[in-house]
Amino acid sequence: MKRLAILGATGSIGMQALEVAAAQAELEVVALAAGSNVAGLVAAARATGAEYLALTDPAAAAQAAAELGRPVQSGPGALAALVTESGADLVLNAVVGAAGLEASLTTLNAGLDLALANKESLVAGGELVLAAARRGGGLILPVDSEHSALQQCLGDVPREQVASLVITASGGPFRGRTRAELANITVEQALAHPTWTMGAKITIDSATLMNKGLEVIEAHMLFDLPYSAIEVVVHPQSIVHGMARLRDGALIAHLGHPDMRVPISYALTYPRREAVPARPLEWTEAFSLDFEPPDLETFGCLRLAIEAGEAGGTAPAVLNAANESAVAAFLTGGTGFLEIEALVAHALDAVAPVALDSFETVVDADLAARAAVASRLSEARA
Ligand code: NDP
Ligand code: MG
Repeated sequence: MKRLAILGATGSIGMQALEVAAAQAELEVVALAAGSNVAGLVAAARATGAEYLALTDPAAAAQAAAELGRPVQSGPGALAALVTESGADLVLNAVVGAAGLEASLTTLNAGLDLALANKESLVAGGELVLAAARRGGGLILPVDSEHSALQQCLGDVPREQVASLVITASGGPFRGRTRAELANITVEQALAHPTWTMGAKITIDSATLMNKGLEVIEAHMLFDLPYSAIEVVVHPQSIVHGMARLRDGALIAHLGHPDMRVPISYALTYPRREAVPARPLEWTEAFSLDFEPPDLETFGCLRLAIEAGEAGGTAPAVLNAANESAVAAFLTGGTGFLEIEALVAHALDAVAPVALDSFETVVDADLAARAAVASRLSEARA
């Protein structure tokens, strides 16, 4: 029996994880946390019987506690407190954004295994997360489909035998468009992802290709390979999730219809593989797999992310926080689609990177980046 805590339980990944856990007798959900979604948390608490609950928003926590007739923790430190108090063996971090970093660090510092969907933890504070894993001895089990695939392609191949890793990208809803055609993209158009149904922030990141940039940094951190050995290829069908190129020329690929329950299940039941009701690839129907290089001119966010990764230190934290702010502004009609890239580039120019030596350093870089985006947005409105 594994005691599982789900952070971000009301989101796209969190709810699919609840479905996976409900089907696995070996997984006991002991803790649930989210931001402010009372109905979602209450429903998940009733469905699982989880004992430890948290909503970071205090008013929402009070309302959920009243509905359930039992305590619901709240406040900014609630996630970390839940991790340590719940006696969980495994923590799924499916919170969106750098808000998930502290809980990742707490989990790994406590020596617990971390099923990590929250890629922003590794982007903003990668070195800290890896150091916490080394110190505590817990595993980092990637939930991101490409990284789950890469982990499986790599198996126990020694790093010096790996030539490169290949991360696939669907290309998002605007694949093949020119920059001029992206100028007047609406929120609704950007939210219509061709192959994956996900939370709003990652869906916009997929449309700008920032998501792929964050994933390149995530892969660099998880698999300890230089940026020059991480390739991105656009693959519109999203059937090949990742590939490992070995030095003898072999290319090992991981395939399947896009379904996040597969990587979620792999991370939650690792090292066992349990049945998932995912649609199998059928050879009775013809289908083709297409691959093309990414367009780094049109989708400059991918280029900015790789550059920030190569710069290192707090540059990826600045990139990530600026992107979170810019995407939030885009989603509420406060800026245009192409401005997301411009705002991130502005923050990277405005906030000089420093060595990443503590959680506070990440927080400072994150806040400085958000302030740089906010001031640029208010100048634009003036
Ligand atoms: P959603 O927006 O659907 O869900 C986000 C979850 O995080 C919700 O439960 C939300 O709670 C919670 N949350 C948001 N802010 C906070 C906060 N400050 N403190 C605590 N909880 C918070 O996102 P997704 O499920 O799509 O994505 C989650 C993570 O997984 C992201 O890092 C994303 O990049 C990654 N990922 C997602 C994939 C997908 O298919 N969706 C694929 C690969 C990676 P509330 O509902 O109360 O606001
Ligand atoms: Mg992914």
